[in-house]
Amino acid sequence: MRYQVHIDTYECNSCGSCVALLPELFCLNDLSGKAELTDNREYTADKLAQAQAYCPSHCIAVAEDGD
Ligand code: SF4
Repeated sequence: MRYQVHIDTYECNSCGSCVALLPELFCLNDLSGKAELTDNREYTADKLAQAQAYCPSHCIAVAEDGD
């Protein structure tokens, strides 16, 4: 199963929780300080659910890619 991940950078408060939890998937943009995805696209449902659960702004959205 592949997933599409979207981060609402308007709602992101730059807390870094997603990066601390899953540095292989998330990083903070050097200029904006907002979360963004790394080039790693090896998402698993468990990891994405963890990131969503720990995001205080609920700004990580996940959708199945259909494959
Ligand atoms: S956990 Fe959420 S609010 Fe915090 S940096 Fe990541 S995306 Fe932004």
